[in-house]
Amino acid sequence: MAASHPPKSGVDNTYVHTLDRQYVFHSWAQQGSLDPMVIAGAEGCRVWDYVGRSYLDFSSQLVNTNIGHQHPKVVSAIQAQAASLCTIAPAHANLARGEAAKRIIAKAPAGFSKVFFTNAGADANENAIRMARLYTGRSKILSAYRSYHGNTGSAIAATGDWRRVPNEYASGHVHFFNPYLYRSEFWARNEEEECERALQHLRRVIECEGANAVAAILLETIPGTAGVLLPPKAYLQGVRKLADEFGIVLILDEVMAGFGRTGRWFAFEHYDMTPDLIVFAKGVNSGYVPAGGVIISEPISRYFDDHFFVGGLTYSGHPLAMAAIVATLDAMDAEGVVENADEVGNGPLAAGLQQLTERYAIIGDWRGVGVFHALELVSDPVYKTPLPGAEVLKLKQQLMENGLLVFTVENRIHVVPPCIVTAAEVEEGLAILDRVLKNYTASR
Ligand code: PLP
Repeated sequence: MAASHPPKSGVDNTYVHTLDRQYVFHSWAQQGSLDPMVIAGAEGCRVWDYVGRSYLDFSSQLVNTNIGHQHPKVVSAIQAQAASLCTIAPAHANLARGEAAKRIIAKAPAGFSKVFFTNAGADANENAIRMARLYTGRSKILSAYRSYHGNTGSAIAATGDWRRVPNEYASGHVHFFNPYLYRSEFWARNEEEECERALQHLRRVIECEGANAVAAILLETIPGTAGVLLPPKAYLQGVRKLADEFGIVLILDEVMAGFGRTGRWFAFEHYDMTPDLIVFAKGVNSGYVPAGGVIISEPISRYFDDHFFVGGLTYSGHPLAMAAIVATLDAMDAEGVVENADEVGNGPLAAGLQQLTERYAIIGDWRGVGVFHALELVSDPVYKTPLPGAEVLKLKQQLMENGLLVFTVENRIHVVPPCIVTAAEVEEGLAILDRVLKNYTASR
């Protein structure tokens, strides 16, 4: 563990925890039963508390610290920007913003020309939806049941699962089933059937909703919090064809999967297709300063040359966030961070997770690419009965006690380390997973 800063006098785990419980209202939580972990500092793939207890961070916090914690080049770029210009209105031009957009366009496929900046992923989806509606003059947005697009008006209404239900106020949102072979909605026996039937289902949804009422299909390229649901290769190409056939804008939400997580700059690079709008956030600057945005393809961008775009945010393209993007992307290039996610993620990490899947019947399914993996836990492998959430939390707690942080959702452990993770750290993390799963299964 790297040296932590000496704690300020009077500051310790108990003080920070008490302060939090007294004054902080947490997201996605029942407030009365919270016991948040205290984090005092971090570096690379590790975080630590005030008494020097350290953890290997295989959660990347909220799957966003792709470049790891406290990258010195990004930290000093933010400091330098803060020293010269902290804030400007979005209407002004600024060097950091222009350089950030230029670098993002350089990573995007040919045919993408402009970047609209937002504060995070949800508002990026809001604005992508708005662009698609203004561009097509249509209103409906089709999105998948197994998806998450953020926690604001249209983004949460576009989200497909239980998270949208109490928040469903935005109108014009329609859902469809996306491929998930392990629990197929289509009674598919293999990937080809799953793909073909899912595409046929989507075609029917478009026809039934009225093709010329549909502005956009919004999909996570690889649904993340829904379980790292890698689509069959032909699926996204099929969706692209449907969008073209019906004149629908295809928006790919790359908030979680983009900027290196899958071992490519964008996850859709695995699928030999491109969308019309790319939504990004998280990994673009690893969340050092909040940022997100929409990468806009040439025809949509040109449309707004002579049509007013009704949308914007006070902090769109905030200089500190932009400086962090420039430094992050430059460091990722210089240090081969995306290549590392590919090599270590698809090498030792994937091999180790496969071994664990073979060893423990409790792992019903393992899916993943790069440093983006989910272990789906079941109490009965034949009936695929999901392991109850309380048991998953117990496992998460045991992993933490052994020094490993993971991201858990429903009956899944998401193994999502930073893209900079080393083979040695992977070995260490897998050994903890193995030990905890062994003890857990022995005690059942
Ligand atoms: N889209 C996807 C795929 C996400 O995973 C998330 C957040 O996890 C969002 C959008 C929302 O991003 P934010 O929380 O930055 O608003």
